[in-house]
Amino acid sequence: MSASQLVVVGAGLAGLRACEAARRAGFTGIITLIGAEQHLPYDRPPLSKEFLDEKDHVGAYKDEEALRDELRIELKLGTRATGLNRGPRLVRTSAGDVPYDELIIATGADPRVLPGDDQVVYLRTLDDAHRLRDSLARSARVLVIGAGFIGSEVASAARARGLSTTVVEALDVPLVRSLGAEVGGLCTALHRDAGVDLRLGVRVDSLERTDGGVRVELSDGTADVYDLVVSGIGAVPATSWLADCGLQLAEDGGIVCDENLAVLDADDEPVPHIWAAGDVASWVNPLFGTRMRLEHWSSAGEQGGAAARNALGEPTAYSTVPYFWSDWFGTRIQFVGVPDGDEVVVQQRIDKAGGTVVLYRRGDRLIGAFTIGRPDLIMKYRRLIAKSASWSEGLEFGAGKIA
Ligand code: FAD
Repeated sequence: MSASQLVVVGAGLAGLRACEAARRAGFTGIITLIGAEQHLPYDRPPLSKEFLDEKDHVGAYKDEEALRDELRIELKLGTRATGLNRGPRLVRTSAGDVPYDELIIATGADPRVLPGDDQVVYLRTLDDAHRLRDSLARSARVLVIGAGFIGSEVASAARARGLSTTVVEALDVPLVRSLGAEVGGLCTALHRDAGVDLRLGVRVDSLERTDGGVRVELSDGTADVYDLVVSGIGAVPATSWLADCGLQLAEDGGIVCDENLAVLDADDEPVPHIWAAGDVASWVNPLFGTRMRLEHWSSAGEQGGAAARNALGEPTAYSTVPYFWSDWFGTRIQFVGVPDGDEVVVQQRIDKAGGTVVLYRRGDRLIGAFTIGRPDLIMKYRRLIAKSASWSEGLEFGAGKIA
């Protein structure tokens, strides 16, 4: 290990796991963790779930003492990275330059914002979640823009409080790109069964603050006034600070990496000493042979660890079966694998609350599985996909377990 200074930019999950993995790998040099937020690294998934139900279930992964004393991390919180000077290996920050031998970029993503409006609430950070929870407590009528995962969880929290909840989604089928049309249809049913007024194929035309709330005009010609408007229309990688640094950025703003999470330049050559992990990283997943950028908790943590081990030792490819979960209206939905199959089979639907298993086939291979209310099965499907199980193996497994 020749590096003596590891710098990690982004004090979220991927950044923290990178620091932990470096120490676990025996790195004894300086680790500096630079984070724009004032908070210690904390868990984001509860922010759109338990936290909004007033259970206040969210917290730092480790306390400050453990980070400083056990992991010996130099914390630079409330400090924003603003650029790189690759020659002398410096990260430029709002608090001055920080030298690195190896650099891991783990700056996550920011909410995609609707152009030109300040009437809308977004949800990414703990501070956002506090604002949203306070607003929910003061509201009777809520409009959620976007029926993706965050929007649906916010709608779920609003319904749990008994609020009148409308969701507008520009697509005709929600989540069609990330889960396919069959599952999009099942998700539509979850919303409607929970009493959400879900409007599909509808966009927001205008928002205006009035005395009674926010007046919203929709593309279906209707207009209404809401106490609270929340937007969940996706996220964009937090990479604007890397413009003109010579790193290759994908069309969606992700950092283009090879299969080892080494950052590539415009000629597809690894940039020496720079790695990426988490929501920012677009890398080639060897298990599927395709480039991916995931916004999933499990891969963010794993990639942080992998990037640190690769930065400090012999690089090895990072491969994974993507996994995420989401909690809607009292039921857990989960997905493993990739959704772009040649065929999608809904295996069984026992009742409205759960018991659904949907399998995705590409060629003769099982490539994905989606479940509602079957947390007992999902990791077994993940293992099948990891070992490149055949389609018939996937079908047989399901038939045995679900019937
Ligand atoms: P982040 O957690 O976003 O951390 C990046 C950090 O970098 C941030 O603290 C940011 O402030 C900081 N940063 C950004 N730019 C700079 C800069 N220039 N300088 C310094 N610091 C910077 N995934 C699931 O699988 N299941 C779920 O149920 C689920 N629920 C979620 C609910 C919410 C509300 C959100 C927001 C996400 C959810 N996710 C879920 C996604 C999951 O939380 C993310 O994939 C994960 O947090 C990504 O980790 P990260 O470290 O890459 O990025």
